[in-house]
Amino acid sequence: MDLLNTLVDKGLRREPPTREEALAVLATSDDDLLDVVAAAGKVRRHWFGRRVKLNYLVNLKSGLCPEDCSYCSQRLGSTAEILKYTWLKPDQASEAAAAGVAGGAKRVCLVASGRGPTDRDVDRVSETIRAIKERTGDVEVCACLGLLSDGQAERLREAGADAYNHNLNTSEATYGEITTTHTYADRVDTVRKAHAAGLSACSGLIAGMGESDEDLVDVVFSLRALDPDSVPVNFLIPMEGTPLEKEWHLTPQRCLRILAMTRFVCPDVEVRIAGGREVHLRTLQPLALHLANSIFLGDYLTSEGQAGKADLEMIADAGFEVEGTDQVTLPEHRAGERGGCGADRAGRAGCATGADGTGCAGGTDEAAGAGAAAPGPGRPRTDLVAVRRRGAGTDLAPNA
Ligand code: SF4
Repeated sequence: MDLLNTLVDKGLRREPPTREEALAVLATSDDDLLDVVAAAGKVRRHWFGRRVKLNYLVNLKSGLCPEDCSYCSQRLGSTAEILKYTWLKPDQASEAAAAGVAGGAKRVCLVASGRGPTDRDVDRVSETIRAIKERTGDVEVCACLGLLSDGQAERLREAGADAYNHNLNTSEATYGEITTTHTYADRVDTVRKAHAAGLSACSGLIAGMGESDEDLVDVVFSLRALDPDSVPVNFLIPMEGTPLEKEWHLTPQRCLRILAMTRFVCPDVEVRIAGGREVHLRTLQPLALHLANSIFLGDYLTSEGQAGKADLEMIADAGFEVEGTDQVTLPEHRAGERGGCGADRAGRAGCATGADGTGCAGGTDEAAGAGAAAPGPGRPRTDLVAVRRRGAGTDLAPNA
């Protein structure tokens, strides 16, 4: 296909596709799907080889949020039966983080529900970051605490955070349909604050909320314009007890096209498969490794992922390798440009500390109960989703 040859050439030159080309990727047929994966896979391998970076989520504070993000099980009015707890203590959080690192995670993502942190919350998280760094050495730490006020990004950076996650989630045009308690502009502002403070910016999207192809292309181009170092792609888990509980629109093939489009638009940034990987990609998960260079290990914020051991086996079976702490994540030109995260420990381009997450700012790790039904709009797949009951905030060991 001429389209795919063009997109590979552009991706290798770090040149964006046109909007029409990005839309054309989403419109490809199932007959062309493997060609699309192979083409985007060439771009992925050019910039990231066969390495897979593992991130590990620690939910520092779960549930009871006053905001109304429709996709979120922790939102105001959610009746999802998730764990609800207030701030984990630094030793609890560092213990959870250590479990992820022991499983191969290179980055720990510290997430807290809520509109944004108070200055006291920033103190708490700073203490937690220090505890994690002391215990697990060179792990990258990313904070995901919601909207930031002036000076908070700088304080997190001083405490040793490497990165900050805040997702745009969807296009500016449709943002108001998803959330009314804050705006798209608020989110852009927080990503810019993180950037300005020298944190590696992580910002991504949620697919499957009823958006159009145009919305998806819009949000991915908006992300490219913000120039984050990593872009998590969440696939909505329509959590029972949330307004989007019946929004089952995704197929494994569509997820692959979305990841391929994201790779072509953001060729040299970390593209991470985030919440909804197991639920929506299902048996096609290994193909998605040809497009994304990072996944979350084990569980999500409020829902269970597949066992961490299964993640590691999948990576090995598909012919990929887990990225080590001695390997540089980002291509040298990116790490060098801004000192972004993913640099090696010798400081070749290093970030001081680091993290990334899905979570509050866009975590779609919503879960549901039990039962079964065929996929499709209005047909909950509660058989595919389980609420997280283990790991941080519980007495049960994490699965990594
Ligand atoms: S995404 Fe964050 S701000 Fe929105 S409802 Fe969930 S926890 Fe609250």
